[in-house]
Amino acid sequence: MNKKTVRDIEVSGKKVLIRVDFNVPMQDGEITDENRIVEALPTIKYIVDNGGRAILFSHLGRVASAEDKKDATLAPVAKRLQELLQKEVKFVPETRGQVLEEAIANLKDGEILMFENTRFEDIEGKKESKNNPELGKYWASLGDVFVNDAFGTAHRAHASNAGIAANIKETVAGFLLEKEIKFIGGAVSNPKRPFVAILGGAKVSDKIEVISNLLNVADKVIIGGGMAYTFLKAQGFEVGTSLCEIEKLDLAKELLEKADGKIVLPVDFRFTKKFENEPASHVGPITDIKADEMSLDIGPKSVELFAEILATAKTVVWNGPMGVFEMSNYAHGTIGVCEAIANLKSATTIVGGGDSAAAAIQFGYASKFTHISTGGGASLEYLEGKLLPGIEIVANK
Ligand code: ADP
Ligand code: MG
Repeated sequence: MNKKTVRDIEVSGKKVLIRVDFNVPMQDGEITDENRIVEALPTIKYIVDNGGRAILFSHLGRVASAEDKKDATLAPVAKRLQELLQKEVKFVPETRGQVLEEAIANLKDGEILMFENTRFEDIEGKKESKNNPELGKYWASLGDVFVNDAFGTAHRAHASNAGIAANIKETVAGFLLEKEIKFIGGAVSNPKRPFVAILGGAKVSDKIEVISNLLNVADKVIIGGGMAYTFLKAQGFEVGTSLCEIEKLDLAKELLEKADGKIVLPVDFRFTKKFENEPASHVGPITDIKADEMSLDIGPKSVELFAEILATAKTVVWNGPMGVFEMSNYAHGTIGVCEAIANLKSATTIVGGGDSAAAAIQFGYASKFTHISTGGGASLEYLEGKLLPGIEIVANK
């Protein structure tokens, strides 16, 4: 990787601004998935162990009005972080001002401070998410050096990443950002071959750019999930009431032509009349579908076909579930693909995409993947081949 990381800078005695992605799912003040916190620990520990003064900040959820603040406070995250680190995290419930500035001034080498949700600044005119230059400059003034470790927001130029970077001497990557660049960036720029991409999920329109870019770099592009039916329809098959984007049929045809055999579609499906967790009424090829039926999952022959293609892969990128995995009767395809990827011995395997990552974790395959991305939207845009502002701000070596 040609980007500078925390290893390349002196942190001892420095006020180190660290943009983390602590935008974790919460329910009634409880964190329901702490993966993003756990993934940020190596960078925080490194800075603290090397005598830096860690100043952490993140966004959490959307904050449109003062009422949103109560549910969007980072206080529970700071508490959990303190438990995970077994070290004090001084939480400052402010995003600017004297209290914050004094707390930072009092911070000693090896200590950790975290300030409040950066989106609290959005209440007055979207200052954070519109990259208000004065706000970025202010936050930059609080530290000596900037570490960006927030991959989940790397596809957006906000005051808390690009704004700070524009106003500080040097910006480097944390270990999590480095890992995301290495795996996702590496897959799209320099993959070990064969490189097999598996795409699924709900909408073709969300992932057109990804398919298009992956057709340039991957050896095979498997398409399952709710996206498959637009492609099947484009090939002239009836798909009943399955998810299908009529206005994307021409595009699907174009992609199929461009693919020149690279696109692999499912060969069997689980049919049902209702979008409910009842067992499929029958399983078979798309030609078996009745006009009032939909397919909510791929069938066992498709899993077998995909597993065969995956078996020789050296790089695998998976984005998007194969069916409505939230319903146990339609989780078979997604579990089957997880299993096929888990069985690969010498491949680099990467999951990008919020729901696919959740599925991999929920079904117990998390440790079987080389890398589970912490960024849904960011990993998609990275796979699309776009330059991400949060990576572009990091100094080159
Ligand atoms: P990711 O977050 O991994 O990128 P998406 O957000 O694109 O994935 O899609 C996830 C959603 O796709 C899931 O909620 C799942 O239920 C839905 N889905 C998958 N297959 C189908 C299908 N055949 N019909 C309807 N929805 C589907
Ligand atoms: Mg999703």
